[in-house]
Amino acid sequence: MFSSVLIANRGEIACRVIRTAKRIGLRTIAVYSAADAGAPHVHLADEAHLIGPPAAVESYLRADKIIEVALASQAAAIHPGYGFLSENAEFAEACAQAGIIFIGPPASAIRAMGLKDAAKALVEKAGVPVVPGYHGARQEPDFLRQKAYETGYPVLIKAIAGGGGKGMRRVDRQQDFDAALASAQREATSAFGDPRVLIEKYISSPRHIEMQVFADAHGHALHLFERDCSLQRRHQKVIEEAPAPGMTPEVRRAMGDAAVEAARAAGYVGAGTVEFIADGRGALRPDGFYFMEMNTRLQVEHPVTEAITGLDLVEWQLRVAGGEALALDQEDLLVDGHAVEARLYAEDPERSFLPSTGRLVALKLPSGEGVRVDSGVAEGGEVTPFYDPMIAKIIAHGGSRDQALERLSAALASTIVAGPKCNVAFLKALVDAEEFREGAVDTGFIERNLETLGATPQPADPQAIAAGAAQLLRMDYEKANPSLLVRGRLGSHEWLYDPWGSRKGFELAGRRHTVVPVETETGKTNIDLFFDDDGPHLLAPGQREETWPDAEWNASLRLAELGDGSGVVVRGSGKVFVICKGRQTSVALVDPLDVDLEHLDGDAGGQVKSPMHGKLVALLVGKGDEVAKGQLLAVVEAMKMEHALTAPMAGVVSEVLAREGEQVSEGARLMTVTPEQE
Ligand code: ADP
Repeated sequence: MFSSVLIANRGEIACRVIRTAKRIGLRTIAVYSAADAGAPHVHLADEAHLIGPPAAVESYLRADKIIEVALASQAAAIHPGYGFLSENAEFAEACAQAGIIFIGPPASAIRAMGLKDAAKALVEKAGVPVVPGYHGARQEPDFLRQKAYETGYPVLIKAIAGGGGKGMRRVDRQQDFDAALASAQREATSAFGDPRVLIEKYISSPRHIEMQVFADAHGHALHLFERDCSLQRRHQKVIEEAPAPGMTPEVRRAMGDAAVEAARAAGYVGAGTVEFIADGRGALRPDGFYFMEMNTRLQVEHPVTEAITGLDLVEWQLRVAGGEALALDQEDLLVDGHAVEARLYAEDPERSFLPSTGRLVALKLPSGEGVRVDSGVAEGGEVTPFYDPMIAKIIAHGGSRDQALERLSAALASTIVAGPKCNVAFLKALVDAEEFREGAVDTGFIERNLETLGATPQPADPQAIAAGAAQLLRMDYEKANPSLLVRGRLGSHEWLYDPWGSRKGFELAGRRHTVVPVETETGKTNIDLFFDDDGPHLLAPGQREETWPDAEWNASLRLAELGDGSGVVVRGSGKVFVICKGRQTSVALVDPLDVDLEHLDGDAGGQVKSPMHGKLVALLVGKGDEVAKGQLLAVVEAMKMEHALTAPMAGVVSEVLAREGEQVSEGARLMTVTPEQE
């Protein structure tokens, strides 16, 4: 066994690898970009080295820099984690050339499985069932359209270099094929530098079931059972579990054998995952699944396998890379209970899951029996636009599926994220959904149930706004800043008033009314504030009864808990975050003397702004073009997906302020549409 390892990654997976490496006595070496100088993985490792600016291409993807650091710090091995360089055959080779052990399969196996078309051809030869379709070399649109027709709609266009659901488009009708192909190719080029695609039959009611495989360098290969990752959004996993609901010993044997065959066909060594798609219209069948691809690395969702097997997969990876033989045989492996993982993301389910960046003003992650949390960020840290906005993985293990789901549900209920928006309420709704509880979901479940899962724009929460406003008024008062009162924030009356304690400040008897303007993420609104002999009362728009939401400051948690138990208030700078049932509402007091210059602009309604930091990958109109309301104007790509920008109204594009290919920042004005003159 070697004695030191460099972790060529960041976030939760870097932390997770470092923990095991330390436990088995290895010296750990972290690398980090300028954006991650204060990140947990940097503190956790025995040493850490800066490798470049924030952009991944200049840091975590710089194979040369990483190898240079590995040599200088005398790292014996490199663990690539997942993503970044983990499935890069050239990187694996460069490590070998530098005399460093790459913790992963041989470069030849990465290559064999790297492109989906070649992988399908390879495993098909080994007798593993593959999805029908076209995975040959020809790429002319006419030819591919013909192949799609022959395969039979609906089909899936997949980037052969694809991963993470990028470059993938489902097409239901021949007339939509060309546009979908162009869009898949554009995304594939931008994400992988390779526009080539394959065509697959779209399996109806598909379930995604994958097998964890492991092979050593001594000819042993086995599987560590399956994971069901059918809860997906846009082909990306949201919740994963092991074992798969409805799995039978017979199907498991067939799938396990196919997975091990696929691994053997590629000359595999180390941890890998063979992904299958199963027909989910009835019970699982030994002849009802097809190979999709093999991921030649550790998966994000490996903890559910660890939970049900009691094994540490990273330890196995390290030992196999160090030349040790697998310590167990297939027959030694048993499934213990059930485990489920939810991916906690900084994103806004109510705004098409747009990544949400910013400082984590509060972060309370759950704990409890059977609960494991793998996170790579800490309270006070930043979710930056440079990387995947995952906050943590929350994993629950139980004796039964029900118990695991109950534990996960409770864990999600006690999770608090303030600052960036997050998907915790959405995850909880999913875990509690009846169909999921019954184990009856396919990969389309989320998309079909966005509304019931709370993943569509919701109206502002009046209770949360009132709670936030009360907390802000209290903070203002605590700051003892009478000037705010005099300046009219509390109306035109010059009260020096103590609504929160004694009544000593009362200057006038009777009931007073004043209007407090506040700003939330949904815009500006006015709150009615009343004072009478009972103290203050608030009425937010949409509330039926006046309230004074009391909140108890919890010093150890550094937040205020609402008296009625409905949520918490977290203080941010200049605003508060109210979190009720996992949903965040930010509230700020508006100075009525502050004039919003933007709204004086007159045509603010016709401005088309970038919803996020990203790259303008397509600009489909030019100055002077006439556009219809809802017409596609441009496409911004960020982190994981493309976002379509559409015309807010019918009119003429009166200015275009950005160029295709350009990086754009959140809120940047990209163009203006001027309404047609009557
Ligand atoms: P990626 O490498 O981008 O993750 P995969 O090939 O692993 O792409 O597919 C990702 C997901 O897309 C699968 O989990 C499944 O939900 C869906 N999918 C893939 N192929 C098919 C298919 N032929 N029919 C239906 N759904 C599919």
